[in-house]
Amino acid sequence: MLANIPVTDQKRIVIAGAGFGGLRLARQLSGKNFQVVLLDKNNYHSFQPLFYQVATAGIEPSAISFPLRKIFQGQKNIHVRMARIKKVNPEINEVETSIGTLRYDFLVLAIGAGNNFFGNASISKYSLPMKSVGESLGLRNTILNNFEKALNTADPEEQTALMNIVVVGGGPTGVELSGAIAEMKRYVLPKDYPELDFSRMSIYLIEGGKRLLGGMSERSSEKALHYLGKLGVKVLLNRYIKDYDGSNLLFADDDVLRSGTMIWAAGIKGNTLEGLDAKVTTRTNRLMVDRFNKVNGYGNIFAIGDLACMSGPDLPNGHPQVAQVAIQQARCLAGNLVRLEMNKKLKPFKYRDLGTLATVGRNRAVVDLSFIRFQGLAAWFFWMFIHLMAIVGVKNRLLIFINWAYYYFTYDQSLRLIIKPKMREEIL
Ligand SMILES: Cc1cc2nc3c(=O)[nH]c(=O)nc-3n(C[C@H](O)[C@H](O)[C@H](O)COP(=O)(O)OP(=O)(O)OC[C@H]3O[C@@H](n4cnc5c(N)ncnc54)[C@H](O)[C@@H]3O)c2cc1C
Repeated sequence: MLANIPVTDQKRIVIAGAGFGGLRLARQLSGKNFQVVLLDKNNYHSFQPLFYQVATAGIEPSAISFPLRKIFQGQKNIHVRMARIKKVNPEINEVETSIGTLRYDFLVLAIGAGNNFFGNASISKYSLPMKSVGESLGLRNTILNNFEKALNTADPEEQTALMNIVVVGGGPTGVELSGAIAEMKRYVLPKDYPELDFSRMSIYLIEGGKRLLGGMSERSSEKALHYLGKLGVKVLLNRYIKDYDGSNLLFADDDVLRSGTMIWAAGIKGNTLEGLDAKVTTRTNRLMVDRFNKVNGYGNIFAIGDLACMSGPDLPNGHPQVAQVAIQQARCLAGNLVRLEMNKKLKPFKYRDLGTLATVGRNRAVVDLSFIRFQGLAAWFFWMFIHLMAIVGVKNRLLIFINWAYYYFTYDQSLRLIIKPKMREEIL
């Protein structure tokens, strides 16, 4: 059993995952008559929508990460533990974690989603995903390292391959990332690497579907394509990648493209966990839940956010895997847990779609709200405002605002460091 978590007469809610969903749920439950144990494999919460700016040396990882202990300072009913949840034993209401076992009265699974490489081991091994702060830093290191290597090769083809960057997946992440890389190519890299010929560098955005930003309006897709074209990104639509060996990308039609950096933003699947009935897991590893986020077939286990799939005739594939769904499900579940204890009727979850945004370099963004759609400069200001407001912590907001303003006026990102962490293995 986990040491130092007191046994009280309060019901214990174990929340696994302190992302958008888990963090919101814990906040909603702080001060309530429950003992809450919040587990996360990291000791911080991170703001994923700005990972691409960490990857392109625009902002520090610390500006988009927030220590969990600071958030819950003074909250007596919340116990934070840095631990990886491994297995659920529903018969005895226990979870197994990297630091021991823990009993629960209610379990909420909010461990989100990871990368989906669709079973391709080689793509999984050599491509660079961007699903965590660590992966975003890894991406920054790889891009910069490849430029260092390009300086030292006499083979022009090898040099071009090292400079080329390919982004796979034309959703908001792929669009934002390729736009940011194009700006690095335009404003930053030629100043840092004057010995390289940047007319030989290409940035590709590869999408299997017929348009970019498939979840947004046609108008936003067209605009995003137009903006990326202006930035010099080569967008390839209706193209699939079959394989990648770290240097060569193989398309489904057997075309080959050379690039030392292939960034994978083409699919996600729910993070795995042992112990639950395989029948409640979808093809993309999400847990099937009812309208109250209760995992099918279990009385006291819930799932929210990216991990949960609340499907029905109106929602064949569940809700979109976006932050607002996780946040709204957490709010609804917090209310329902309180209602459950008071023997009151539970409220079913109803998603309120607040809209979708994506930015494409400076001064350009696309915004689809339920009542209005707009693009361009106004959309860009709107995108910045929404993202600044959504970040946890006043200091982080200020830091990001200062970074953005500095970059806007100087055209210079100052964080082009290749930092290679070295830690004792047992800490990692
Ligand atoms: C690069 C990127 C950009 C995005 N941009 C947007 C955007 O612009 N707008 C938008 O709405 N959505 C965006 N999303 C999607 C959005 O971030 C997710 O939908 C949202 O984070 C889901 O929240 P969640 O709580 O379900 O999971 P997450 O926020 O992913 O949280 C999961 C938490 O669980 C922890 N965890 C994982 N496994 C374990 C384990 N075994 N044990 C313990 N802890 C574990 C993780 O450390 C993490 O803290 C983006 C995602 C990415 C990757």
